[in-house]
Amino acid sequence: MSHSFHRQLVYTIKDRCRVCFTCVRECPVKAIKIINGQAEVINDRCIGCGNCVRVCSQGAKIPLRSVDAVNDLLKSKNKIAACIAPSFPAEFEEIADYMVFVGMVRKLGFDYVTEVSFGADIVAREYENMIKGRDYEGDISSDCPAIVYFIRHYHPDMVPYLAPIASPMVAMGRVMKKKHGEDLKVVFIGPCFAKKAETTEIDEVLTFRELRDMFEASDILPENTEPSAFDPPHSGKGAIFPVSRGLYYTANNQETIPEERVIIAEGRVNYKEAIKEFEEGYIRKKHLMLLCCEGCIMGPGTSPGGKRFARSNAVGEYVSRKLQNIDKEVWEKNIEEFGQLDLSQSFTTEDRRLSKPSNEEVLNALHSMGKFSLQDHLNCGACGYDTCVDHAGAIVQGLAETEMCLPFAIEKLHDSISKLNVSNEKLARARAALKQSEKLAHMGQLSAGIAHELNNPLGVITMYSNILMDEAPEGDAVRDDLKLIVEQAERCKKIVSGLLNFARKNQVNLSETDVVKFVQHSLNSIVKPENIVCSFASEIADPIALLDIDQMMQVLTNLEKNAIEAMPNGGSLKVGVEGDAGEITFIVADTGSGIEKENMDKLFTPFFTTKEMGKGTGLGLALIYGIVKMHKGKIHVDSNANPAQGPTGTTFRITVPRGR
Ligand code: ADP
Ligand code: MG
Repeated sequence: MSHSFHRQLVYTIKDRCRVCFTCVRECPVKAIKIINGQAEVINDRCIGCGNCVRVCSQGAKIPLRSVDAVNDLLKSKNKIAACIAPSFPAEFEEIADYMVFVGMVRKLGFDYVTEVSFGADIVAREYENMIKGRDYEGDISSDCPAIVYFIRHYHPDMVPYLAPIASPMVAMGRVMKKKHGEDLKVVFIGPCFAKKAETTEIDEVLTFRELRDMFEASDILPENTEPSAFDPPHSGKGAIFPVSRGLYYTANNQETIPEERVIIAEGRVNYKEAIKEFEEGYIRKKHLMLLCCEGCIMGPGTSPGGKRFARSNAVGEYVSRKLQNIDKEVWEKNIEEFGQLDLSQSFTTEDRRLSKPSNEEVLNALHSMGKFSLQDHLNCGACGYDTCVDHAGAIVQGLAETEMCLPFAIEKLHDSISKLNVSNEKLARARAALKQSEKLAHMGQLSAGIAHELNNPLGVITMYSNILMDEAPEGDAVRDDLKLIVEQAERCKKIVSGLLNFARKNQVNLSETDVVKFVQHSLNSIVKPENIVCSFASEIADPIALLDIDQMMQVLTNLEKNAIEAMPNGGSLKVGVEGDAGEITFIVADTGSGIEKENMDKLFTPFFTTKEMGKGTGLGLALIYGIVKMHKGKIHVDSNANPAQGPTGTTFRITVPRGR
């Protein structure tokens, strides 16, 4: 009979996966692939150990269920036998009398209820004979189906060393069919779901957890069940099989196998190491007794949260009671009879090893995770792989993704956060500028209206007061009054024209200008107090740009005047011009008082001034704003008014296109 039957044992519910990579870490054969951040079991690579089901806290790994198939069998006309794994006392600890448990199984509709441990009894004899044989070369026990899959897939050269002996389950199936005919259907009930894919000789396999579900669905409880005995053949020592060293105790019936001939390794890490050492020749002529779990009593088909030693104790107590009551004569007769059965098992190789990635491929994958030197290899294990190199190899093999690297993902996150911060800041600045220009646009409309309405009456006032002044005799007191009216009316006209500039009602009159000379000229045309050091710097190769000279002159002189006014106790005024092929930037920097933060967004509003009455009009920057806008330029202000934060002062940068 062959052992070459593979069905999907674990299904993935992708939506439930929260990408913790625990399953990747716990899977002994890396049969879990991460695609788009979600874990998926690769059936071809899976050995059915059930680790991923056990460790997934989200219930994203669902084991194959056989309850429906078993119910169908029970409804059919066939005779059905339930073969109960010897670990049942560990699972059903709460049922004090095992015969009640047997009665409950019978109530589900099984025609026979037997113990697999009789199969263990006859299989153990085969092991005993093999191990004490003269030409014994060593072997690996083949009773754990996950171990068998592991060897067939990942150590195919070791397949010849798999003990060519049927598992207790298969042996018991053969016993039952011999006893009750080939039409008998056999359902194995046990702690393991790798058994579901072990063989086609057994018709269905239920886990203990599924059996509990069936009890519940049919409302079968210990208190409403008649006790009942197991059907023959009854077992002997084989009942101890599921606990650690169980096979050894059973096989060593006549104490003919020396203890040092047996190596026992259980659990995810140990069995792999044992096989590796066996393959590499460090262990010779030994029997490797290997289990994927911590003994079948803790198998993935048992209820979660069981206590290992309490379970082992429950099995031990059950076996010792059983051995006290055993009818030795009948047992020996049965062993003799069924020991004649063919208990052989052959195994084929099914190589599922992935080709080893080249050094270069691994290096590239490491680089893609930002790992360039050995210091970058944190080997933190967060990805589920022991080392960064293992992770990189898995990326090359298509099993893993770079994003699984936690330090890399965190770094990327930090990166995007700072990028986001930058764009957030830009956005905030743009929003503030927009608000400001909206406000100024409204003011512009209003100012333009007022200026336009005032212009004519002002003209009339100026003209008539001039006429009256000319007519008034020299030395007349009225003449002085009229002079004052003319002066103030002139001042009003200036304000009005400032407002008009701000409101952009004027046109620009562009002409080719040498900006270096132009800026120098602007500096010469203002009055500079003695206590202020003025300097000019130019870093420009091509000084020619198209500007409205009159208006731009107003911009520069206004900025320079503001700067001087900000330095009543002296300081330095630096004026400069920079530029590239497309733009010209005028810079006016002072070491004056600086502008208070809260005033920064009021600067360009008409009539905003911090200067005393009669000194400032608050129209200078409004006018500059209008002119720069007309030149399709922009204004940038940098200022510090707080001496605690460094030297105070203000820098205005006006950037306009060259206009060519
Ligand atoms: P005004 O000079 O008539 O006050 P402006 O529109 O030219 O009007 O300036 C508005 C206000 O901006 C000023 O009152 C001052 O508070 C501030 N300001 C402008 N330039 C400077 C500067 N270089 N240093 C400090 N404050 C400045
Ligand atoms: Mg001013």
